[in-house]
Amino acid sequence: MTRVLVIEDEPQIVRALVINLKARKYEVDAAHDGATALQLAAARHPDVVVLDLGLPDMDGVEVIRGLRGWTRVPILVLSARHSSDEKVEALDAGADDYVTKPFGMDELLARLRAAVRRAEPVGPGEDDVTTVETAEFTVDLAAKKVNRGGKDVRLTPTEWHLLEVLVRNSGRLVSQKQLLQEVWGPSYGTETNYLRVYMAQLRRKLEADPSHPKHFVTEPGMGYRFEG
Ligand code: CA
Repeated sequence: MTRVLVIEDEPQIVRALVINLKARKYEVDAAHDGATALQLAAARHPDVVVLDLGLPDMDGVEVIRGLRGWTRVPILVLSARHSSDEKVEALDAGADDYVTKPFGMDELLARLRAAVRRAEPVGPGEDDVTTVETAEFTVDLAAKKVNRGGKDVRLTPTEWHLLEVLVRNSGRLVSQKQLLQEVWGPSYGTETNYLRVYMAQLRRKLEADPSHPKHFVTEPGMGYRFEG
């Protein structure tokens, strides 16, 4: 059973989410503020988090940072505001996706399922290439680990998925649309801002000089290419 933590201070939205999620056999916990949410997350270990960014006691982005200190649980953000800065900030802090309020329940449930699916561990594959080495870091595709300078680099599930798609297509251009569909799901294709944010994160974590990337190369207007 999939356990969902809903963090939202508007009672009508909480009620609608709880009813719809329980009807689909999810187990649901709800928190109406950030402090309660962080406590509940630690106690209940949810499989996915739905987080409103506008909470009474703290900014939702602070909740994301608090969670990311110890868990890679997928986080789906609810954003009432239309500021793309806020969404980018939330993605940057480690959220996996966002839905803008007012949202359709079907859309939210689809994004929730996609976020859970992305986080599911994949069993041992039949891929022949399992390790890719560069001068700066090593990617172990089988173990889903990246090592840089003898230390494991912590990647969120979304960062990992993006890295994996690029590394498996090493030396080849992967289009923006292809990346979005592989990593976020088939209904995506135009959200190039997601790619900019996540590529910046991967570069920050893995490139020797993130502003002059050698491995995660942008093909302007086209997509991205991994060079080993
Ligand atoms: Ca709110």
